[in-house]
Amino acid sequence: MGSKSRQLHIFFFPLMGHGHLIPTMDMAKLFAERGVKATIVTTPRNVPIFSKTRGTNVDIQIIKFPAVEAGLPEGCENIDSVTSLDMSHKFIKATKMLQQPLEQLLQDYQPSCLVADMFFPWATDVAAKFGEIKLTRMQLPDFTLQEVETDFSKLLKEAMESEFTSYGVVVNSFYELEPAYADHYRKVLGIKAWHIGPVSLCNKDAEEKAQRGKEASIDEHECLKWLSTKKLNSVIYICFGSMPKFSDSQLFELAMGLEASEQQFIWVVRKGKNEKEEEDWLPKGFEKRMEGKGLIIRGWAPQVLILDHQAVGGFVTHCGWNSTLEGVASGVPMVTWPMAAEQFYNEKLITQVLKIGISVGAQQWTWVVDGIKREAIEKAMRQILVGEEAARAKALGEMARRAVEEGGSSYSDLNALIEELRLHCP
Ligand code: UDP
Repeated sequence: MGSKSRQLHIFFFPLMGHGHLIPTMDMAKLFAERGVKATIVTTPRNVPIFSKTRGTNVDIQIIKFPAVEAGLPEGCENIDSVTSLDMSHKFIKATKMLQQPLEQLLQDYQPSCLVADMFFPWATDVAAKFGEIKLTRMQLPDFTLQEVETDFSKLLKEAMESEFTSYGVVVNSFYELEPAYADHYRKVLGIKAWHIGPVSLCNKDAEEKAQRGKEASIDEHECLKWLSTKKLNSVIYICFGSMPKFSDSQLFELAMGLEASEQQFIWVVRKGKNEKEEEDWLPKGFEKRMEGKGLIIRGWAPQVLILDHQAVGGFVTHCGWNSTLEGVASGVPMVTWPMAAEQFYNEKLITQVLKIGISVGAQQWTWVVDGIKREAIEKAMRQILVGEEAARAKALGEMARRAVEEGGSSYSDLNALIEELRLHCP
């Protein structure tokens, strides 16, 4: 539930009966003795049971027991005072009414986990609300929603099946980035996998970083010269991968958001230099006003070269997997703006699992981007350079670099793969 970097904090929520309250107190003490922050959630009349226990540093959180609301006498808060079957029904009814106050407590304190009594099965659903990563139906790729099989959905199904029938899978990622998923893949799904990335880190000098498969539309020296005039972490790089499609009105809105944010930027746009075309999507006089502050690259940018520059402090990305990893490897926090493919999943990894990015608020899986307002863009642009995501992104970038260095996880996985192939493919 809570963030990994802070102290482990466990909430205990026992049924209001001595046979439940006493062992829970002992359990909480055991955790507290090992340096874990332990809190017991209970109702006012049950608090004295805990205050009688000596020598503990277990916290107590109190929630009101709705005895009267459930038809019980005032103060009937412990199963000790339940004397008939009818009262026991009412007692259960009252405990079920504790869902909302429990949820509020979890919301306020954000503990790492909740240990709830077996008689509160509903507590699992309450807790799940805080740990769940949710995608709305609108954010799911269209091919997962289609009921009729298409050529593409068939191809994807076959691709997934082939993961099980092939010898193994080579992954452009590194273990420390997603250990839970890497373990799940190997141990639960039982697929052999080698995490050998981020592969873009094989490019060391400026020329290698600039020349990656496609001629950039800007001279790398010109680009570096522009960046070299900027302060450390002061420029935001905006690029949406190799095939973005934005409506003209969305590009216009993006330009307005950038200007309003007052941030320095490099913005990659797939638009020609045709003057007439410019009129449609660029606010009048935009480039003139942005001179020295914002650089537009029309066409293809040397992305890795730019991201790796020390002046770049943020990345607005469509969350394509390559861009995501390149952002991670460069240690920059991201503004996530997913559009299609599996990008909405990657956004969740960035914003909710790794917590190295903030979302611009895209809600709709689409091939043509539209509808994100300038205010949302401005807000994300302003926040990204100063938010707490930056420090985490920097630490993760260092991890990525260590992973590919001699002795690192990706370096070792690659060695292991080569060894295994040598053995099997004489
Ligand atoms: N790329 C680039 N310059 C550009 C746009 C993209 O170098 O102007 C590179 C980027 O560095 C990444 C790849 O193209 O390696 C895009 O892959 P990604 O998975 O991010 O997105 P996709 O294009 O598949 O949606």
